[in-house]
Amino acid sequence: MIGFGYDVHRLAPGESLVLGGVMLESKLGTVAHSDGDVLVHAIMDALLGALALGDIGLHFPDTHPEWKGADSIAMLKRVHHIIRNEGAHVVNVDSTVVLEAPRLRPHIEAMRERIAEALALDTKRVSIKATTSERLGFVGREEGIAAYAIAQVEYD
Ligand code: MG
Repeated sequence: MIGFGYDVHRLAPGESLVLGGVMLESKLGTVAHSDGDVLVHAIMDALLGALALGDIGLHFPDTHPEWKGADSIAMLKRVHHIIRNEGAHVVNVDSTVVLEAPRLRPHIEAMRERIAEALALDTKRVSIKATTSERLGFVGREEGIAAYAIAQVEYD
């Protein structure tokens, strides 16, 4: 089964920027109830979507104090648990982050490793790509960051 996920977070000065479980140097960070890891959020929605298990809003309500400032990698581990409890396993994940800055290339390997570890996967099965929005739209104006992900999940 294939699942798709999409997420956006607003950017603001004085906030931290965490992507793929890696804290990045940036003048702008994401505004969010959790740590605002837009990439991990998109991946979680793709994983849940593959098994038609709803979305992260259902599993991690942002009204809930438990998820205030939450480490999204811990949430991803929880999603992996849910999938294993369904008698299924993750085959692979592919994703794209859309942002103007900072450049993600030097951090992609560390991000892949963090996500792969949370999903008990070989790093080769986790793909992360990055692109800018060519200065167009809300991403181009650095008002936000978007991420898209797809995942394949199969029953054991
Ligand atoms: Mg989110």
